[in-house]
Amino acid sequence: MTVKAFGAPAADRPLEPLDIPRREAGPHDVAIDIAYCGVCHSDLHQVRSEWDGTIYPCVPGHEIVGHVTSVGSDVTKFKVGDVVGVGCMVDSCQHCASCDEGLEQYCENGFVGTYNGKTDDAPGHTFGGYSQSIVVNDKFVLKVTHPQDQLAAVAPLLCAGITTYSPLRHWNVGPGKKVGIVGIGGLGHMGVKLAHAMGAHVVAFTTSESKREDAKALGADEVIVSRNEDEMAAHANSFDFILNTVAASHNLDAFTMLLKRDGTMTLVGVPEHPHPSPNIGALIFKRRAIAGSLIGGIAETQEMLDFCAEKGVVADIEMIRIQDIETAYERMQRSDVKYRFVIDNATLDA
Ligand code: NAP
Ligand code: ZN
Repeated sequence: MTVKAFGAPAADRPLEPLDIPRREAGPHDVAIDIAYCGVCHSDLHQVRSEWDGTIYPCVPGHEIVGHVTSVGSDVTKFKVGDVVGVGCMVDSCQHCASCDEGLEQYCENGFVGTYNGKTDDAPGHTFGGYSQSIVVNDKFVLKVTHPQDQLAAVAPLLCAGITTYSPLRHWNVGPGKKVGIVGIGGLGHMGVKLAHAMGAHVVAFTTSESKREDAKALGADEVIVSRNEDEMAAHANSFDFILNTVAASHNLDAFTMLLKRDGTMTLVGVPEHPHPSPNIGALIFKRRAIAGSLIGGIAETQEMLDFCAEKGVVADIEMIRIQDIETAYERMQRSDVKYRFVIDNATLDA
């Protein structure tokens, strides 16, 4: 089947309408009509070839929400009409130690990305959610239980939500913990909401004075404009955990200095250019750690969706037509997003 999509033919070319193939649903597959797709900064890094290895044409999009249109003969968990989500992965080996533990994102044989991943389907690499429909192995499909009128705002949970939820859980964020979230963009604003919902004392770090008031509304107990050294110094040695979502190279020491003894700062941003090397003394003398974290496994993604549905958590979004994707990318590059663009996939028909 051929469906309408938007993608980039090359790193230096804008996204344009494309017709792409989708396989027929096999026995274990779920076919999904895509209603909404969030716009992640990773989409921008990938289409512009800021990371190595982009395969063109590139159809991005890994924050997908839609309705099931058909299921394969062996699928029992889903039926036609169900509201479902698809995140950053559409397959993995299913038999390595990481997959066995439900940590498919760390699959030792490499998971298959929702876009730019290797597949047997033509043309040999996967196409993402900037498209009318997608066919996905049922193991990688999530159940969405939020109310129907929130579905566009649920889409960003599939990447921004799980990428912040997973490290917050792994490093035991909760009541009594002082937690910093650095960079209040798509990931960061979800980090603030989720850490608040988990009961932590949440401090938002932003470079944008204009986000100072908003960050409180998102759930931050305190907001620090990180360009202001005095504001930063007042919090030295006080954080249990810091989640750093910044999409650009920057000085990490400014944040590690704010960790308590044994505190950890986890990086989830994947900047085009490396960060300056961190000050090792700042780590050694307080046994501080700098760590990394990649999205989350499928079971944990379902847990996150259920947690958000129960707590009434969704993203703050600005809905766009697919035809406006380049403007959205330009604004994202200027940190001018409050807080996630979401594509109305019905506009692919226009
Ligand atoms: P985003 O919406 O563009 O947010 C990034 C935020 O970082 C900006 O809003 C801005 O917040 C801050 N920022 C940007 N440039 C900065 C600079 N030069 N110095 C300091 N702060 C800066 O991006 P996103 O979609 O949240 O993605 C963030 C990063 O995470 C990207 O690199 C993306 O590829 C990566 N990512 C990683 C994973 C993973 O699994 N590890 C998953 C998804 C995405 P303020 O205005 O508040 O300063
Ligand atoms: Zn993403």
